[in-house]
Amino acid sequence: MIAYTTKVKSFLSQDPIPFLIGGSWLQNSENLVFQVEDPSTQAALGKVSRATASDTVKAVEKADEAFKTWRNTSAKERAALLHKLADLCERDAEELAQLEALDVGKSVNNARGFDVPFGIESLRYYANLIENKAFEQVLNLDGVSGKSVRLPYGVVAFIFPWNFPLTLCMWGIGPALAAGNTVVIKPAALTPLSTLYLGTLAQEAGFPEGVINIVPASGAEAGDVLTKHPKVKCVSFTGSSEVGKTIGQNCGFNLKPVKLELGGKGAAVVFDDADLDNAATGLAGAITLNTGQVCCTATRWIIHENAVDSFIDKVKIELSKTNIAPGMDDASDMGPVVSEKQLNSIFDYINKGQEEGAEVIFGGKRLDVEGVQGYYMEPTLLQGTEENICFKEEIFGPVAYITTFADEADAIRQVNSLDYGLANSVWTEDAIRAERVAKEMVAGNSWINAHNVFAYGLPYGGVNGSGNGGGVNSIETLFDYTRGLSIAQPVVVEALV
Ligand code: NAD
Repeated sequence: MIAYTTKVKSFLSQDPIPFLIGGSWLQNSENLVFQVEDPSTQAALGKVSRATASDTVKAVEKADEAFKTWRNTSAKERAALLHKLADLCERDAEELAQLEALDVGKSVNNARGFDVPFGIESLRYYANLIENKAFEQVLNLDGVSGKSVRLPYGVVAFIFPWNFPLTLCMWGIGPALAAGNTVVIKPAALTPLSTLYLGTLAQEAGFPEGVINIVPASGAEAGDVLTKHPKVKCVSFTGSSEVGKTIGQNCGFNLKPVKLELGGKGAAVVFDDADLDNAATGLAGAITLNTGQVCCTATRWIIHENAVDSFIDKVKIELSKTNIAPGMDDASDMGPVVSEKQLNSIFDYINKGQEEGAEVIFGGKRLDVEGVQGYYMEPTLLQGTEENICFKEEIFGPVAYITTFADEADAIRQVNSLDYGLANSVWTEDAIRAERVAKEMVAGNSWINAHNVFAYGLPYGGVNGSGNGGGVNSIETLFDYTRGLSIAQPVVVEALV
């Protein structure tokens, strides 16, 4: 296992780790805390002071106050601060990766290679975008001189889940800050560490007081404030579809624009002409990455009946190679599940799936990892019919459910049989079929011969039960954090003398 850096040790030694409001690091007045645990070892990592509803109100008020000056900063000034924060994240990349590995249980190498650099790139992407993008468009109109302008909303509230705390935070606040908003961030109580550390870097970068506020709070308590407070002008929620409905309902009632990035039950359709080695490697990776706790990953594998046996043989070989070890083990490919509650929920699904007739064809058991007590399990494959609960519901662990199909129409029907619509993939060597199926699968993202494809400039989002918002690094996301304004005046035509 790798050793904690000095900065990580010192950060975790705070008792408790405070929260950030209006440029000050504060604590719960009654000393209430969240205990933070390392899921790889079940060891206590530290205590995080718990923000109350009134702390969250204060954070909103401070963010609103800060907006009065932040909104007038130039794009150049905001871009410089975002670049400075990105520089500091690069300087402390190891600290951020370690905190993410400790808190979520994810492989530290994955955090170094994905979570941290993807977040940093996002800050830089939006910094560059605002310097080069005009936010005013002159309109060509009859009898009226007019233009359309995009302006920041004001205070934007962010509520994040526990699975990619740092990356999602930077993907969210990057565009919101770039557009000129101030932010109140509510991280998941289970994994607040990297977000709070990011807060220290934001202060060091020189973000003015109140522009970035971080309130680790209970979901319902903070959610109530953030979706109802009149000074919150836009809400961005990433999390389960169930909680998303409550957030959407409250924002709808209070007429607040809301981005909802919700759960998924992604499908991978593998045709019999696909490169099965590539499909087996890609899909095994899809359920082991972040221990399968990935909203957009492929968890329904819909395989052509002529290819299913060969595909299963290959994917079992791939999964057997997975090194399951603590997140802080440099050689770990897959760490534990994030918590005991999550582990129990996954096994409830596997048990119910079996009761409903599915067969476990690989894995399916809790795992002991030598020398540590953590929430480990084997990557698991189930096979059965479409009626099964494990085909229909998001399990959020290293579990895939396999069905078969005989023709393209049946595969597409299976993909579209659920209300979720986040991300699917199609695997075939036939480029025309790939494009056709990609368009037929109802979701925000269709990937070809790969799953989990992200690139700068490529929009990402969900539809139906997976939400209504888009994320990641594209101009659409920046515009999500702006409001439109049109400015017009009649053109007076002077009479010709
Ligand atoms: P969750 O919905 O339980 O919690 C998400 C956040 O909402 C947490 O911060 C939580 O404290 C807060 N919350 C809980 N109840 C609340 C309430 N009543 N009001 C306001 N906030 C409340 O989700 P989770 O278990 O943390 O994360 C896993 C889920 O997130 C999965 O469904 C996954 O698919 C989804 N997810 C989606 C995306 C995406 O981009 N679409 C990305 C990551 C995760």
